[in-house]
Amino acid sequence: MVCSHHHLYSTLARGMPSPPRQPTKFLEILEQIWWRLDVALDAEMIRWSAMLGAVEALQCGTTAIVDHHESPSCIEGSLSIIADACAEVGVRTNLAYGVTDRHGADGSRRGLAENERFLRAGGRGMVGVHAAFTCSDDTLASAAALAADLGVGVHIHVAEAPDDADAGDRLHALARDDWHLVHCVYLDRELPGTIAHNPRSNMNNSVGYARPAARPNRIVLGTDGIGADMLEEARLAYMRLREEDVLASPDTVWQWLDNGYALFPEARADRVTWNYPHADSAWHVAFTPGVRAVHVESDAGEVLLRDGLPTRVDIAEVQTNAAEQAKRLFARL
Ligand SMILES: [Zn+2]
Repeated sequence: MVCSHHHLYSTLARGMPSPPRQPTKFLEILEQIWWRLDVALDAEMIRWSAMLGAVEALQCGTTAIVDHHESPSCIEGSLSIIADACAEVGVRTNLAYGVTDRHGADGSRRGLAENERFLRAGGRGMVGVHAAFTCSDDTLASAAALAADLGVGVHIHVAEAPDDADAGDRLHALARDDWHLVHCVYLDRELPGTIAHNPRSNMNNSVGYARPAARPNRIVLGTDGIGADMLEEARLAYMRLREEDVLASPDTVWQWLDNGYALFPEARADRVTWNYPHADSAWHVAFTPGVRAVHVESDAGEVLLRDGLPTRVDIAEVQTNAAEQAKRLFARL
């Protein structure tokens, strides 16, 4: 399985203290939850958050993750920390640092520089942009130019909520086929690129249905940071699709899962043994909650998960260290 949009830094967010004010809409959810969390992250938190997220991904049969990262107080080197943590577990990554002007021109410059540093050093990834609505036109143009120069796409949230409804207009002249467009719920036109659909996140943020089946783009599935259980996400994507169209088939959603291999062709050769004998059937999976990976073997023949446990790292040690970092993080919040 490939998770085509994740935020591994949110692995430690579960159980975080309540925000000072109850968020009532999308922008307030960002302000009260995610923008307080991301600014509190340091290198150790990023490392153990990524490693726990990678272990939990493997336990869901997910061996490849397209991640979108932001840690404004710890930008330089952050992508390498995530890459190393996931590689240690045996999970492939395609990483991007989400550039934004929320922390001024220096913040966006450092974000761009981190993308460039990581990619020029041979890291696998894209140039990340948080979203058009938190960036100036100059920053968007700089990110697009850097990505074109490096021969990669731009990984960006697009029109997730009404606050970003003019993203289509702002990105129209910049977007290319290799861009990774996340959400596109309020996108008022077609843009070139792959669209990452995250049904559970969209429901959780109450932003409405993205109607991915109506788009001409290649569609892939992501979790937007809520784990990496792609069969679960596919089940949710199917139910959301079916709610709109009673004639819809789970095969449509199965194709979205399959499209994820475009960014990780070698992941297709990984082998997962599931705890349910018909996990290769879209119709079975759509109506079978709780399907989990028992064994995972990489394309190179290495066993990465045995009897539900990671082989390269001690899961108890990862959980203990992650819990320790979560405690530090919550204290800052
Ligand atoms: Zn996201």
